[in-house]
Amino acid sequence: MGDDVALDIRTLIMLAAVVALLSGASLRYVLREYPAELSPSIRLWTLGVLGQATAWILFGLRDQIPDWLSIVGANALLSLAFAQQVHAVRLFGGLPVRMAVYAPAVAVLLDEIVFTYAVPGMRLRLLTATPLFCLQMIQGGMSLVASAAVSRRSGRLTAAAFFALAAVLAARVIYEGLRTDALHSAFWDSPMQTLVFSFASLFVVVATLGFVLMCSDQLHQELERQAMLDPLTGISNRRTLDVLAVQALASAQRHGRPLALLLVDADHFKRINDDCGHAAGDEVLRLLAATLKRGLRNEDLLGRLGGEEFVVVLPESDTEDALASAERLRRAVEELEFAAGGHPVPLRISIGVATMRAGDDFATLLRRADAAMYAAKHAGRNCVRGPENLREVAAAAPQRMG
Ligand code: GH3
Ligand code: MG
Ligand code: MG
Repeated sequence: MGDDVALDIRTLIMLAAVVALLSGASLRYVLREYPAELSPSIRLWTLGVLGQATAWILFGLRDQIPDWLSIVGANALLSLAFAQQVHAVRLFGGLPVRMAVYAPAVAVLLDEIVFTYAVPGMRLRLLTATPLFCLQMIQGGMSLVASAAVSRRSGRLTAAAFFALAAVLAARVIYEGLRTDALHSAFWDSPMQTLVFSFASLFVVVATLGFVLMCSDQLHQELERQAMLDPLTGISNRRTLDVLAVQALASAQRHGRPLALLLVDADHFKRINDDCGHAAGDEVLRLLAATLKRGLRNEDLLGRLGGEEFVVVLPESDTEDALASAERLRRAVEELEFAAGGHPVPLRISIGVATMRAGDDFATLLRRADAAMYAAKHAGRNCVRGPENLREVAAAAPQRMG
């Protein structure tokens, strides 16, 4: 700080108030367009920022308004505002919100009352309240570290803002604790005062920027997730299946491991639609997807190819394993008890099995599984057909694909 232009503390405090107010207002304006599941967290953060702005204004009006407002009220409000930000971050990260989040705010309130009225002393008050504020910053930073938010830059930025203010507050405790001169004015000037109040206003801006970016990242991730899934059944859509299957194939080929593919097609599905309605058909598709998923291992891939056709990729499975898996799935569907409009509707699937050969790509494998599935349809449906049945198909009818 230059000698000629000294920033006085009251100006710095009012600047912090304006900065917080503008951040809070911007947040309210921008984040209205974010999805509803983020709004409790956003609302808390906004409250926290606006609470900080109000607290700074009350601090700045010291000696012009009663002490209970400018000292007790301002500190308690600031602490409550920080607690709301910690709460917001924990909600965002899906972490439990315990009493400990608001405990420092209660402690600050009591502390301010005691050291303003019972045992008045400015330095004592400062030395007891500052560690509580510091603790709140650590709570905020640690909450981010404990949540998935920290895996992204936006979360790390917000955490850094919390930890930086915590460090400055810790330095303040040490600095003021070592000083022996008496404090008489609330606006005494010191490099530490300048540092603390500059950092506090920077904190609002940087942490809020980080928080907004966290919300954007979350939204982006959610949209990306939705684009990968089939909206009806919630399993992978064709596009995702293409990507994942190509990866699985490449990995199997690289390591010389077996891999199998099942093409699952609902039998006489058109009839279900025609007899029970399209909505019942949709419900059957959801039920089929869930049943297939339940019958698979974690490392298996399941996706909806389109219509009433599903694809299953089974890593580490040879023909024998795959035929057994397919038969298990077929039976699981056969055993389902589905009813539409009070009438039982039998559900059946036909499955074609193909196993990976050297040089196969996803399309080739899919084509062979489709031919096997066609063989299953030809054999009367509700059955599994594999590589050994392909010749009978070729003789029976032309393949549907390719
Ligand atoms: P097959 O046993 O030979 O497979 O006969 P199928 O009736 O199952 O086969 P087909 O391909 O003739 O009929 C599939 C039907 O699936 C036709 C289409 O209207 C229906 N379908 C496709 N997508 C959806 C969907 O998202 N919801 C519903 N309810 N029906 C769908
Ligand atoms: Mg079909
Ligand atoms: Mg069908």
